[in-house]
Amino acid sequence: MRLRFLGAAGEVTGSAFLLENGAGRLLLDCGLFQGGADERRRNAAPFPFDPTSLAAVVLTHAHIDHIGRLPYLIRAGFRRRIHAHRATVALADILLRDAYELMRADLDKENRARLRRGLAPRPAPYELEDLERVLESFVSHDYRKPFEPLPGIMVEFYDAGHILGSASLRILWQEAGRARVLAVSGDLGPHGAPLLRDPEPITDADWLILESTYGDRRHRPRAATVEELGMILETAAESGGSVLIPAFAVGRSQEILWWLSQHRERFGLHRFRIFLDSPMAVAVGEVYERFVTLLDEEAKRRWQGPAHPLRLPNLRLVTRSEDSIAINRLEGPLIVIAGSGMCNGGRILHHLRHRLWRDNTAIVFVGYQAAGTLGRKLVEGASYVTIFGERIKVRARIHTLGGLSAHGDQEDLCRWYGALEKHPPVWLVHGEEHAREGLAAALRQRFGAEVHRPRQGEGFLLS
Ligand SMILES: [Zn+2]
Repeated sequence: MRLRFLGAAGEVTGSAFLLENGAGRLLLDCGLFQGGADERRRNAAPFPFDPTSLAAVVLTHAHIDHIGRLPYLIRAGFRRRIHAHRATVALADILLRDAYELMRADLDKENRARLRRGLAPRPAPYELEDLERVLESFVSHDYRKPFEPLPGIMVEFYDAGHILGSASLRILWQEAGRARVLAVSGDLGPHGAPLLRDPEPITDADWLILESTYGDRRHRPRAATVEELGMILETAAESGGSVLIPAFAVGRSQEILWWLSQHRERFGLHRFRIFLDSPMAVAVGEVYERFVTLLDEEAKRRWQGPAHPLRLPNLRLVTRSEDSIAINRLEGPLIVIAGSGMCNGGRILHHLRHRLWRDNTAIVFVGYQAAGTLGRKLVEGASYVTIFGERIKVRARIHTLGGLSAHGDQEDLCRWYGALEKHPPVWLVHGEEHAREGLAAALRQRFGAEVHRPRQGEGFLLS
């Protein structure tokens, strides 16, 4: 069996791993590279294998950096099945359509500029029909129900606790009369987060591909983080200011609403107008509703009772863009949760443009901010930023609530690895270099693990 790393090798986006033996080729994840113009070029570049030669694709979860290149794969001729957990299939429909809209908007803007310079417009990397074909190619699976995407290779989904439907993969085959197991962690959630269950370990792997997003970090405890959020809200209420929370539509938005509903009285939330300004997050809320049986015990209980975690009395779900723009005219105290989580697009941009220059605004980052994004610039303390071509002074207070991450920290990752009985060789992916180094050192020291940090395109023989 051969394994090749085609993305998320030394970076956090573009997850894609190719597994191949005599029976055929399997692609694990097919993620978009995210960031700027360089990444756009990488997405549009030909795949480093013949897409028509793939027997199937298996997905870990619905985040775009794990599934966003599927329409490109279809465009390049792939016509086989795409296997995913059934909640991933539901979320992929929402996320891929959103990614398509973003791609179109970027392309239209670029092409208007090209036409002004007398250049020919660039063709779209894929069309809506390719996206529809992706959705038609899905096969839905449940946790812990093995399936056979390639003759002789069994795959089983384990709950990864990262977003709804997220899975770690246990991949099993026979070689020289022996069972062989490759585990792929996918993105792993933290222990003790609300809504989702804790990540479920795979115990019997011979090799492991492990994510390392926060491999060199320890998160603050969630309780302390939620206290900090309370303090930020108190300051905003007193100054009549606004709190902008750039949040991914899947996971982070729902967790923020959970904490707000949990602490409604204590945070004095009746003083605020609260907006979930994201058609996508609203649609994702409906998927949570459909898959409530996948949530943890406390969430399931509260879903049935009066304190429904996603339904605060003064919360408005905003879908129409004119209603979103109308928020600009409102004075605080108000809370706006809007995407994108890294401020590289979406409705959060117009809220930032209207409120970033005011000193009674607080921006609260709750997720990972990739290099090159506006979110990263704000977190790193930029005093001016450019939004829609306009230079804007940053007077708002910038907060980073690291403790609400959807990814486990070094301790969580080590705990998941520690559950593997053989302490197998491990390849670290989905992390910037400092994060991989930090996790590699911890795994070597605590478990004597054989740790690899694969480069883009690097291949290994599993035998
Ligand atoms: Zn993810």
